[in-house]
Amino acid sequence: MADRQIEFLLVGGFAAGYCAAELRKRGAEGEILLAGREPEPPYERPPLSKEYLRGEQGREDAYVNAPDWYEQNGVELRAGTNVMSLDVEARTAKLQGGEEVSFSKALLATGANVNILRLEGAELDGIHYLRAFGNSDGIREAGEKAERAVLVGGSYIACEVAASLKAKGTDCAIVAMEDVVLSNSFGEEAGNWFQEVLTSHGVEVHTGQTVSAFQGEDGVSAVITDQGKTVEGDFVVVGAGVKPDVMLAKRAGLEIEEGDGGIRCDETLQTSVEGIFAAGDVCSYESRVHGRRLRVEHWDVAMQQGMHAARGLMGESEPYEVVPYFFSDLADWASMEYIGPAESWDEEIWRGDRDAGEFTVFYLSGGKIAGALTVGRSEDLGYARELLAKGTDVSASKEALADADTDLGSFLDG
Ligand SMILES: Cc1cc2nc3c(=O)[nH]c(=O)nc-3n(C[C@H](O)[C@H](O)[C@H](O)COP(=O)(O)OP(=O)(O)OC[C@H]3O[C@@H](n4cnc5c(N)ncnc54)[C@H](O)[C@@H]3O)c2cc1C
Repeated sequence: MADRQIEFLLVGGFAAGYCAAELRKRGAEGEILLAGREPEPPYERPPLSKEYLRGEQGREDAYVNAPDWYEQNGVELRAGTNVMSLDVEARTAKLQGGEEVSFSKALLATGANVNILRLEGAELDGIHYLRAFGNSDGIREAGEKAERAVLVGGSYIACEVAASLKAKGTDCAIVAMEDVVLSNSFGEEAGNWFQEVLTSHGVEVHTGQTVSAFQGEDGVSAVITDQGKTVEGDFVVVGAGVKPDVMLAKRAGLEIEEGDGGIRCDETLQTSVEGIFAAGDVCSYESRVHGRRLRVEHWDVAMQQGMHAARGLMGESEPYEVVPYFFSDLADWASMEYIGPAESWDEEIWRGDRDAGEFTVFYLSGGKIAGALTVGRSEDLGYARELLAKGTDVSASKEALADADTDLGSFLDG
């Protein structure tokens, strides 16, 4: 027998926090229990590599809902509580500490875990990963004491952390597998633009280098690459990607994408079991807009999906059709926004003035927009998003797209 009965069980943090708020906003009356493993109430992670890391923002600024919101809105927040297991047929969950609750509907928004580099020297002190507040605190503290950091990774986490640390006075060297940082998502030309921003602010960049070992006697003092390079630093931050945390869902018998690639959901974000939804980094859903299965690790997507799942939990299932949006900042040196994600593309169309730091890149696949990146021209992105969603063929209009004076709205009229 379960200890008690609730209507909605929400498991997670960020996306779950948005789901709870949306449920109440839409007038859901049933009992809501939100259980999250971390000690804090649901919070957003982007500041951990940006404002919070640089000491410009406090913890509470990152909270999804104010700490007293939960009580005021009748949402039982169980921070620091792991959901140990789910019985999806009996609709019961075992919480850390032994309590068993019976629920009607559930959201699994269990996020992702960082990839750990299990290499020689991995046990040395001074090797950091970044996912939670505590990690960001540790990196900030290390940066305050040390002169030089090594960032491992060529995607946005390593680049953002390098920019934040450098802006606060710590020398930084990036070691990346890619030939150009950020090129996996944005292509080499745009990657080069960002790399130039980093190097022009004094960040050292070593590309085409895979880390093969960490070196040091009393704590880490260098990373060694497969090309025989030794890149020295007083501490290391690794940004080597994440894996969706499917553990709870998998043990409960929900369908999981091959290779633990997320919880398999339909186009409404419902999992293989009716009444159980997923959202955020862990959610692999059938995207009508893209005509393929998608799992995206973006702040905006987790937020939108958390809110969308609330509607599903209330029995108003509709396809999730929002075009994924991503943003990133390199300190206050450059900000980027992106919609997509483009799986691949055969052409890039550049618009605007890259020297002035105001440009947009359209990534075209088969004449249609598969993604768009912008620096300083946010207004272009809204149009690009609509063109992507509509699947408009722009192959006859490439010159016009490249011309910064063309009204992009005219493409939507036709
Ligand atoms: C440093 C950093 C910077 C980022 N910057 C950007 C950015 O600039 N732009 C952008 O678009 N995205 C950014 N992201 C990505 C974005 O933060 C994530 O996509 C988003 O946090 C995903 O939200 P989520 O709710 O799916 O998962 P999470 O925020 O990871 O929340 C999941 C929570 O579920 C908990 N959990 C897991 N299993 C259980 C269980 N069994 N019981 C209880 N709790 C459990 C986890 O401990 C975790 O607290 C950044 C991420 C990081 C780490």
